[in-house]
Amino acid sequence: MAHENKPPLFLPWSALDPPGALPEWLYRNGISGLGGRSRQPSGRSYPHPPRPGTQPAPTSAIPWSLPSEPPLRFALPTPAPPPVSIWRPPLYDPPLALTPYDHFLFSRPIAADEVNWPLPEYRYGDYFTGTDIVHTGIDIDAPRGTPVLAAGSGEVVWAGYGLYAGRNRPDDPYGLAVVILHDFGYQGRKLYTVYAHMDQIVVASGQQVAPGDVLGYVGSTGFTTGPHLHFEVRIEQNSFFVTRNPELWLVPPQGWGVLAGRVLKTTGQPIERLTISVQSLDMGQVWQVRTYAPHSVNSDDYYRENMVLSDLPAGKYRVSFDYKGTRYRLETDITPGMVRYFTFREGQGFSTDLPAPSLPTSVPTNVPSLQP
Ligand SMILES: [Zn+2]
Repeated sequence: MAHENKPPLFLPWSALDPPGALPEWLYRNGISGLGGRSRQPSGRSYPHPPRPGTQPAPTSAIPWSLPSEPPLRFALPTPAPPPVSIWRPPLYDPPLALTPYDHFLFSRPIAADEVNWPLPEYRYGDYFTGTDIVHTGIDIDAPRGTPVLAAGSGEVVWAGYGLYAGRNRPDDPYGLAVVILHDFGYQGRKLYTVYAHMDQIVVASGQQVAPGDVLGYVGSTGFTTGPHLHFEVRIEQNSFFVTRNPELWLVPPQGWGVLAGRVLKTTGQPIERLTISVQSLDMGQVWQVRTYAPHSVNSDDYYRENMVLSDLPAGKYRVSFDYKGTRYRLETDITPGMVRYFTFREGQGFSTDLPAPSLPTSVPTNVPSLQP
């Protein structure tokens, strides 16, 4: 996409005038990248059981000979069990960090009886379709009215309209949003989580919340084409410009893991918007993920990845992609509760060695090092 006439989305925070003001070009383009969806809300791609109490009564008449008080199940039929395709194991309990560099510190902001994983077509670091507005979080495709849950304990530091554009701006791209400053950090730095596009908020600034507390309900406020939850992880500051990929921070289902990759040109620059296929050699199922877009999002301080694919059942996998007419393949495995990491560099091929231990430069020197 050629949009060279526009500034990149990732302006330094201080470049905005006043700081935090939404650039006009961003409004012109629609900032759906903050919370838009790449498809219409009616396009749910998986079957979804009706919820009790929300469906019409059975159409077949109850025979006259039945007892005058029919069993409850006639009035509220038990929904069919969810199709296997959306069944998942229960989640690990956070925090989970089986290596010094993993940090699955957050529970899911949508309960496990609904789809609570990222919308695959529009992950962190992707462009909103037809724009160069990058996605700074993940979208979870939950129905309107689904409770939105605190991903960890902390204090509500924002509740309402205007998270990006300024307080009480009803045209704010995040819509009705909540931000939690967590009462735990990472490597001495503060952690925030953001919950956007809600129809209703039931917490107030200053309120303490525990993991799983209801913050509000899924809706479609802000720039969005349909009800869903937009969820972000921010480090150190409550700022749009310091997000990290939530798929590296949300606990996986038990027995499942995460793949993170750093895919580079010969120059060491990231290969952008490359479609990568990840196939389970046990089940045959194929996932696709794109590397982060140009002018894009922040990587993890340790992995410096440009792609993450979470929620993969443990087992053997083949990672493959085409680049400049050549097909590249890597066989690797996913380990329960951990990040499996790879690098690819054009001309050198794949490596599954972990990055050299390092700490981000912003860590204060009095913070204990997590280096092994
Ligand atoms: Zn979003």
